[in-house]
Amino acid sequence: MENNNEPQFWQKSVKIISHCLFCHSPYTHLQANLLDERDDGRLIYVRCQKCQTAVLASVTPGAMGFISLYMVTDCTPEDVIKFKEMKSLNGDEVLAFRESLQNGEDVIESLNRS
Ligand SMILES: [Zn+2]
Repeated sequence: MENNNEPQFWQKSVKIISHCLFCHSPYTHLQANLLDERDDGRLIYVRCQKCQTAVLASVTPGAMGFISLYMVTDCTPEDVIKFKEMKSLNGDEVLAFRESLQNGEDVIESLNRS
């Protein structure tokens, strides 16, 4: 397995995310934001300058090469960092939110209170 502490890991990560998944415009390394860096991989945010589609990519080294997962997002890099550091919702909180929606409650108001 490749040592992901090597400086080339970041460059290879960006090469994996070489073009926009929607309009196929090539990305440059200047468009990629490294949001998180751990021994087991990188979290990278890329926004296409042509179509403005943003993608969040998780790139981890694997036995057969790099494993990359992509998720289209409308979050900013700051949103991703903020949400990543928040605690996860539990099942009861999700059910309570669903119940609020069904009861026609003002969920935006209740979210602003919490
Ligand atoms: Zn694009």
